[in-house]
Amino acid sequence: MYLISAILLFWVVFVFWVRRELAEAWSEPCLRSPVLVFEGDDWGFGPMEQAQALLDIAEVLGRHRDAQGRCPVMTIGVILSGPDPTQPENAEAGLGLDDEKLVCVRSAILKGVNAGVFSLQLHGMQHYHPQVLARACRSDPALAEWRRRHLPSTEDLPPALQSRWTDGSVLPSRALDPQDIHRRVVAEVAEFRRVFGTDPVVAVPPTFVWSAEVETAWAAAGLRVLVTPGERYESRGADGLPTDSGHFYHNGQRCDSGLIAVVRNDYYEPVRGHRASNGIAALTRKWAQRRPLLLETHRSNFVGRQARHQDSLAAIDSLIAEACKRYPTLCFVSVEALADAYATGGSALLDHGLPARLRALPARLLTTGRRRKVLLLLCFLTVFAVALAA
Ligand SMILES: [Zn+2]
Repeated sequence: MYLISAILLFWVVFVFWVRRELAEAWSEPCLRSPVLVFEGDDWGFGPMEQAQALLDIAEVLGRHRDAQGRCPVMTIGVILSGPDPTQPENAEAGLGLDDEKLVCVRSAILKGVNAGVFSLQLHGMQHYHPQVLARACRSDPALAEWRRRHLPSTEDLPPALQSRWTDGSVLPSRALDPQDIHRRVVAEVAEFRRVFGTDPVVAVPPTFVWSAEVETAWAAAGLRVLVTPGERYESRGADGLPTDSGHFYHNGQRCDSGLIAVVRNDYYEPVRGHRASNGIAALTRKWAQRRPLLLETHRSNFVGRQARHQDSLAAIDSLIAEACKRYPTLCFVSVEALADAYATGGSALLDHGLPARLRALPARLLTTGRRRKVLLLLCFLTVFAVALAA
């Protein structure tokens, strides 16, 4: 009797230990079929060679179809502007995507959108905060030189300065003035509309550092969806790395701001050696959890000093082909469509049945080796105690 009571107590402690994850795992809706989305970031302002890279990616995506006849989608997280080399002293001066040097990039993006293989997301007016960058330039001649270059790559900036929504000119970084945030959000949404002729729906915070003010401002400007890594990082620490805030997100969560959250939950960066086998392993894990696989895939795989364009195209092509073969019910949808399904409970994509939820729960919960070991030990002790009592 003492043994059973002790084991019951252990179970209570275990459930208390995983209570947040348990509540989130249970409340997050389950998918009806596996879903794969490529999440492309950092496109737009930058080298003109992006235009050809985008056309090539669109061609590769256009070769494939899911069972419903839909093409795979790469979301294009767009950076709308960057430094104007003719006005290096004016921090706010920028070249937009309708500048004659960048219209080929905008055309390639829109061609992919019209073909149904690209879906636009707002990544930001710039992949930095202009005034923060200007402050950092005053003490760093190399940064000032970067700003004078012709169509420079923001990937070359120090990581802390690539965060748009915190002041990374000092570390630990400092919070921005809320009025400055609201003004810049209004401006970037208007610029997106001006350049693409359509309102942005999905926002992706640069480097995943943002604040509640940014979220609220995006919602007020008409955005509906927020791409997250599962947690909000609000600042960068003394080591320059994003710091935990304790604000977590799950797929389909209605945030306090009113935005619907989706979680980008893995990487597919061919320049870092990711190949079809890695992508398939990730898809298998996410499908066991009845979650979509949102694969982060940066521009730097295709454009820039470290890019391996042809290798990266082949890696995407082979992953899609293998995924279609392994999972005949695989769905290709945009993040926007996915978020709409979460918001409305759309039964074409979601399975609200109890069996799906019960199947997904252990896969969602037991994602760490430590949790799996503790649960295994508890199950063993329970069986042992019941057998002893019998
Ligand atoms: Zn980015």
